[in-house]
Amino acid sequence: MNPDLTPHLFGMTPEDLLAHAQKAGVRLDIGEARRTMARVLSYKPDEHPNVRRPLRKTLFGELAQSTTRAELEVVERVTDDNDGFVKYLFRSPDGSLTEAVRIPLHKPGHFTVCLSSQVGCAMGCVFCATGRLGLTRNLKAWEMVAAFKRVRDEAPGRVSGAVFMGQGEPFHNYDEVIQAGRVLSNPCGGRISADMITISTVGLVPQIRRYAREGHRHRLIVSLTSAIPDKRRALLPVAGRFSMEEVSEAIREYAAVAKGRMTIAWVVMAGVNTGQDEVDALRDLLGDLKLRVNLIDVNDAREDGFKRATPTELKDFLNRLSVLNVPLVRRYSGGREKHAACGMLAAHQLAKDATELDGE
Ligand code: SF4
Repeated sequence: MNPDLTPHLFGMTPEDLLAHAQKAGVRLDIGEARRTMARVLSYKPDEHPNVRRPLRKTLFGELAQSTTRAELEVVERVTDDNDGFVKYLFRSPDGSLTEAVRIPLHKPGHFTVCLSSQVGCAMGCVFCATGRLGLTRNLKAWEMVAAFKRVRDEAPGRVSGAVFMGQGEPFHNYDEVIQAGRVLSNPCGGRISADMITISTVGLVPQIRRYAREGHRHRLIVSLTSAIPDKRRALLPVAGRFSMEEVSEAIREYAAVAKGRMTIAWVVMAGVNTGQDEVDALRDLLGDLKLRVNLIDVNDAREDGFKRATPTELKDFLNRLSVLNVPLVRRYSGGREKHAACGMLAAHQLAKDATELDGE
């Protein structure tokens, strides 16, 4: 059996397991499939003592021969005492490194998990450490679920959500991310509500339109970062593939089916995208929509990299944006003090590996 091709239980819903069992000639009904998945993805498998003995035999016997439950290895776990973020660096069976972050929510004892969708990223956003790594490969749904499970199982409270905002562009790995969302939101899987899962995209137009057509319940965020075409192309090279008008039309298609507010993310960079020209361009582009704008401080570890806006610059930007009359939410990308902001752990580990190799 080729381990790369072996179906992984973490990537399956009960219905997927049932279909797999039928193909593999294992007798299973949907109730047993549900109980099996609830046990496989349970926080504490012993919470499911009602798994009958014959099912245990199926689970650990016949199905074990045609599926795998391999876990990710935790390479590093970094806690930032200042903000409570816990960043995980995982190693997949093929050696690939990815990250996930446990993020404390305002409500004490509640957390969400930021998940990666790819090893590296092909989008090449100029302010992003992951973008500089380039793309190695897409993550499988099971790897995203395994990362979620590990972070959730170690959380000192309730994990009630997941955001695909880690390494990678989720819509560049559309099918596996949607499958991970199915498993995470299944009552016998990750057991989080579908609308507590958020997918963030840099604006891949065909996928936004497909997502709107398919009517998924997960929240969608489009990271705009600039509404001025030339500047956006310079910051997010992928913007060269789709015009501002195409992005705007795709956002409108999604907003029409999602009905609630459309969230736009804005990575704030000092002296780059905080001016009146940006506010005017954003108003012309999407000012007629019900919007929410998430402002995210840039995290660029390079000496000569992009800088965070000063408090004064940020305040001025917020004042300018207030004419749009939309909720403005400052999103915090934690772990910066420990080299653990987005993309930084994997970049550090790769640098460490390279140094070790050089030293051999
Ligand atoms: S910001 Fe997101 S989409 Fe852009 S390069 Fe980084 S990981 Fe990829």
